[in-house]
Amino acid sequence: MFVNKLSLQHYRNYDALNLDSFGDVNLILGRNAQGKTNLLEALLVLALTKSHRTSKDRELISFGQDHAAVSAEVEKKYGTVQVELRFSNQGKKAKLNGLEQRKLSEFVGALNAVMFAPEDLEIVKGTPGVRRRFLDMEIGQVQPSYLFHLQQYQKVLVQRNNLLKQAWGKEAELAVMLEIWNEQLVEHGVKIIKKRKQFIKKLQKWAEQIHDGITGGSEKLELSYLPSFGEAETEDEAVLLEQFMIKLSQMKDQEIRRGMTLAGPHRDDITFYINGNEAQTYGSQGQQRTTALSLKLAEIELINEEIGEYPILLLDDVLSELDPYRQTQLIETFQSKVQTFITATGIESINESRLQNASIFHVQEGQ
Ligand code: ATP
Ligand code: MG
Repeated sequence: MFVNKLSLQHYRNYDALNLDSFGDVNLILGRNAQGKTNLLEALLVLALTKSHRTSKDRELISFGQDHAAVSAEVEKKYGTVQVELRFSNQGKKAKLNGLEQRKLSEFVGALNAVMFAPEDLEIVKGTPGVRRRFLDMEIGQVQPSYLFHLQQYQKVLVQRNNLLKQAWGKEAELAVMLEIWNEQLVEHGVKIIKKRKQFIKKLQKWAEQIHDGITGGSEKLELSYLPSFGEAETEDEAVLLEQFMIKLSQMKDQEIRRGMTLAGPHRDDITFYINGNEAQTYGSQGQQRTTALSLKLAEIELINEEIGEYPILLLDDVLSELDPYRQTQLIETFQSKVQTFITATGIESINESRLQNASIFHVQEGQ
C-alpha cells in the first residue's frame, strides 16, 4: 500500500499540516524536538488507532486544543481508501471513506504499518513483558481472534488471582470455583500459546533471512519460544491443554501460598540467538539493534503473506545507529516494495546514494 496524502489537525505540535508528493522512500529531516517522530506516530496511529508511545489519546491532542484529527489517502491493491481518526474528550471516532465505523476493529487494517523506533531495542534487551507485548501487538494486528482470546485470558487471570489470594485455608470451599477458572484459563491460554508458536516459526523464517541480508551473511539469527510449561515445539491443542492442566495441579499449593497464577502465556518468553549465543546476554549493542530491526522487518513479510499487500514502514532514528554497511543493506532490503518513511536529524548520517530517489521533507516546529 502507498500513502498519497496525509493531513494533521491539532495533532501534537502540528497545528495544521497537509502533505502529498510522497515517494517510495521519504526522508523526514529536522533538528531535535521539531516533530519528526510525531509525524511517523500519526501514520502509525492511523494504522492501529493508538500510539506506540502512549495509551492516553489525550496526549495526541495539541496543548490547549479540544480535538485532534489525522487523515490519509491510501492507495491499495483494490482501490483508494480514505482513513480518518478524530480524538476528543468524547473519545475517538474512525471513518473509512467518510463513513463512521461503529467498531474500531473494523477500521484497523485499512492502513497497515510497521514501525521501528529506538525503544524497540527493548524487545531484545528488556524484560519478558516487553517481548510478550511485542508478540501480542504483532499477532493481534493480523489476527483479531488472537486479541479476543487474549482479552478473555486476562479477565480470567484477574479473577483467578483474586480467588487465589483468598484461598489460603479455604481450599476445599473454593475448589469448585478454582476448577471453573482453571478450565477457562486453559481454554484461552492454549489458543494464545498455539498462535504465538505458529507466529514465531513464521517470524523465524523471515527474520533469519533479513538478518542474514543486513549483516552480509555474518550472523545467523534464531528464535525460540520459552514456555512456562511443556516443550517449546508443541503446537497440538489437546497436548497443550493436558500439560497446562497438569502444571496447574502441580503448582496449586505454591499458587495459593503466593496468591497468583504461576504458569501460562502471561509467564512465557522468547529467546533470540545470534550464531548460537543468546543475544540478550552476549550480543553487542549493534547486534541487539540489528536483531530487533530484523524482527520488525520480518513482520512486513508476514503482513504481506497474511493480506497480500505490503504495509508501510516507519523507521524512527534508525540510520544513525547503524554502520554504513548495515544502513545500505537495510534500505535495499525493501527498496521499491515497501513505502518507507525515515526520520533523521541530518543528511550527513545517510549514505549518499540513498538520497537520489528519496522525497525529502524538512520539519521545523511542527511545519
Ligand atoms: P528528536 O530528534 O529529539 O527525536 P522529534 O523531531 O522526533 O525530535 P517529536 O518527538 O516529534 O520530536 O516531538 C516534537 C515536539 O512535540 C516536542 O517538543 C514536544 O514537546 C511536542 N509535543 C508533544 N506532544 C504535544 C502536544 N500534545 N501538543 C503540543 N506539542 C506537543
Ligand atoms: Mg524523534
